[in-house]
Amino acid sequence: MAHDTPKSILALSDQCVRCGLCSAVCPTYALTGLETESPRGRITAMQAMASQDTADASLLKARDHCLGCGQCQSMCPSRVQYAQLLERSRSRHPPRLPASERWLLRLVKSPLRLKLAAAILPLARPWLLSRGFPPSDPCPPRDQPPARPRGRVALFLGCVARWADGKTLADTRWLIQQAGYSIADTPSQGCCGALHQHAGQRETARQMAEKNRRAFQGRADILLYSASGCAPMLEPLNNTLPVKEAFHWLVGQLPAPRLRESRRLALHLPCSLRQQPEAARALRQYVEQHCQKPVLVLDSGCCGAGGAHMLRFPERAAALRQPLLEALETVDLLLSSNIGCALHLRAGLYQQGRDLPVQHPLSWLRSLQEENPACTL
Ligand code: SF4
Ligand code: SF4
Repeated sequence: MAHDTPKSILALSDQCVRCGLCSAVCPTYALTGLETESPRGRITAMQAMASQDTADASLLKARDHCLGCGQCQSMCPSRVQYAQLLERSRSRHPPRLPASERWLLRLVKSPLRLKLAAAILPLARPWLLSRGFPPSDPCPPRDQPPARPRGRVALFLGCVARWADGKTLADTRWLIQQAGYSIADTPSQGCCGALHQHAGQRETARQMAEKNRRAFQGRADILLYSASGCAPMLEPLNNTLPVKEAFHWLVGQLPAPRLRESRRLALHLPCSLRQQPEAARALRQYVEQHCQKPVLVLDSGCCGAGGAHMLRFPERAAALRQPLLEALETVDLLLSSNIGCALHLRAGLYQQGRDLPVQHPLSWLRSLQEENPACTL
């Protein structure tokens, strides 16, 4: 692609003045203390790859240990466009992918294969459990469409979420209908393409975004997504219809709950949600306002999921996750808004024999609206 030329990569990497301020917020630098594992070290590696237009194993390793969390970009005083640089570098010199990731990328690329995967999920349960990924129970939607809808909402189903977290999607449908909206039928929607983008397959990701644009065009007044990791890939669809983060939009539509949560909650704000400060702030405020006990907010570092990072580098992903698991000793329920993070955290808890439930904030919002037994005045 024209954007992925060595010249364009060098133009981006040359913006870095090597001040090193970003190292303070980089989770992989905090984990290892190595310059090669810092944003500055990675920019140097990407610059070297671009200037020679070739990539050796050590440069690829330095670059691809990056979680793509975006924290370095947020705090860079020179406004280095790190995310764009990483994307272009990965497109020019693709990462080496393990078989599990290649398999996942092929699976989620096709809407038909996604539907088949969802249908055979119950058969894969023992395999998933043996790898420490306890799937949530399948949860078929029980729709109660409003008699006189206020409008029509399309719900983005994602890829992994539709077979590993049917409960969140069913709860979101319920909330949309409680808010007085009908749900648009969008049978040809597919995966957002974020995993392909992270793997350096920019053209595939672009084609997937285009398919989704066609799938939603003219079918709804608004598109909602529940997994924050999909957001950057759905943004271009804003030209077709407004795209909003579901929790943020829904709490503005629903009546205020009468009761408050009595359990002790932990709220994990994934890196991808922190890149949407308005939605992250609204979620945090809402949860804190509707809990009787102080909420443990996990809003720094990275849990290690990092798109497909947990498949590519499982040991590093587990090391990054460990401090978060330790912080959760005293809570009754963990909320996280990104399916990859939720699966990764749930797997860690499962491997440690802990039965702390992990929910999407939308499922918790439904339980609050329904006045579940843990809610009191
Ligand atoms: S990316 Fe920004 S903060 Fe980091 S070393 Fe370069 S100029 Fe400094
Ligand atoms: S995106 Fe995150 S992991 Fe990657 S270099 Fe920046 S801060 Fe470090």
